[in-house]
Amino acid sequence: MGWEYAPAPESREIVSIAREYGLFVNGEFSPAQGSKTFATVNPATEEPLARVALAGGRDVDRAVSAARTAYEQVWGPMPGAERAKYLYRIARILQERSREFAVLESIDNGKPIKETRDVDIPLAAAHFFYYAGWADKLDYAGFGPQPRSLGVAGQVIPWNFPLLMAAWKLAPALAAGNTCVLKPAETTPLSALLLAEVCQQAELPPGVVNVLTGAGDTGAAVVAHPGVDKVAFTGSTEVGIAIAEAIAGTGKKLTLELGGKAANVVFDDAPVEQAIEGIVNGIFFNQGHVCCAGSRLLVQESVAEHVVDRLRRRLATLRLGDPLDKNTDIGAINSRQQLDKITELSAAGEAEGAHRWSPPCELPKKGYWFAPTVFTGVSQSHRIAREEIFGPVLSVLTFRTPEEAVTKANNTPYGLSAGVWTEKGSRILWMAQKMRAGVVWANTYNRFDPASPFGGYRESGFGREGGRHGLAAYLDV
Ligand code: NDP
Repeated sequence: MGWEYAPAPESREIVSIAREYGLFVNGEFSPAQGSKTFATVNPATEEPLARVALAGGRDVDRAVSAARTAYEQVWGPMPGAERAKYLYRIARILQERSREFAVLESIDNGKPIKETRDVDIPLAAAHFFYYAGWADKLDYAGFGPQPRSLGVAGQVIPWNFPLLMAAWKLAPALAAGNTCVLKPAETTPLSALLLAEVCQQAELPPGVVNVLTGAGDTGAAVVAHPGVDKVAFTGSTEVGIAIAEAIAGTGKKLTLELGGKAANVVFDDAPVEQAIEGIVNGIFFNQGHVCCAGSRLLVQESVAEHVVDRLRRRLATLRLGDPLDKNTDIGAINSRQQLDKITELSAAGEAEGAHRWSPPCELPKKGYWFAPTVFTGVSQSHRIAREEIFGPVLSVLTFRTPEEAVTKANNTPYGLSAGVWTEKGSRILWMAQKMRAGVVWANTYNRFDPASPFGGYRESGFGREGGRHGLAAYLDV
């Protein structure tokens, strides 16, 4: 007997989306120079949602100067215990308005409501709570007495976790006493603008947080501005390299959180059902738009057939569709551009000889969609084993010995994350030491906590976000 889920759509009523949004500078919303705007669309329907101000060079000047004044006159001199009160206030308002944020994020990004509701928004609030706790304890953070803040932070974030990335950037910067100019991604500006409203509601002093919406040129102007003391970027390795080049020699402090091609390693003694959930969560969470996604499954040869078979059966139960439906597991791809990239790389996988499989699943007629896809028979030289696809596409490779697993896991220019599935604790520790990745999950995957530092090696960037280590990026240490 087949069981069908009845639709369980979350109401849009809780969110009111304005027709037009301005830039958030010095505590107020204002139009961009020349009143330039761009559209943001719902990727699940291609419906235009709003027009958003496109910040130019003069707007960046305005925002950096507001941030500088706020830094020198208000936020810098303010005792940490007072700064903490504002951060706690922002955290509490995020919790109070969590449903509104969850719906807005799903509409603007395309990700399922159950993820925005259970992951993005609670974690964003948790980051503000966590760093609020540090604001008056910087003397005891292990950086010596009275560590100094840096000044104005220019922060550029991507579209895959729009509010959460804003929280990762803003909370430690503010706790440490810096002021911020934040540039959200072009395709997902709305939750950062709602966060700006939350800053107003929390009565955060004007200029402490500024939000400049725009495209890549706006981001480039923020990071290059001479009034910016610290640059924090999350996004593609190409843009990360361009930013590092642009600010080389300026003395600006830099942290980069870039791409990844993580190995999720399953040994023959792993509990298979648990590992299947971990594999699914590792690559199909957030449509695979995750820098630390477990996009390369390395499975021990003796169990490979069994694991792939169980995985296929599990994937056949995933529900793809309306992001606002609480039953939905896989939402929309964030943009046409990203869909084209996933389509192109998947076609390359087939052309290079890997075997492509997707569960039967009907894609909606409008919007940007891609069925969950598994490639078997993948070799290390295939593009789908080397390049970051940033979509719901898993490449399966096999290994025979732990040494081979380590060699294959490390055969990537990236080094952000990895997973290991085995019942032997000693093997977990051995693997964790050998795999060159900033984060290694053992018998779980894609778990995040504000107290736990996150960041990469090599082409995945440098610097850590989260935890005590995340403070170092915003202090003169
Ligand atoms: P980008 O790296 O271009 O975007 C990240 C942010 O940087 C956005 O806010 C973007 O603005 C901004 N930006 C773009 N160019 C510049 C620049 N020269 N100087 C400063 N800021 C800039 O990623 P894309 O959205 O183009 O995605 C491309 C690929 O990158 C994806 O397919 C994926 O593989 C990878 N990616 C990885 C992420 C990660 O977390 N590791 C996150 C996002 C993407 P705007 O959005 O307006 O272009």
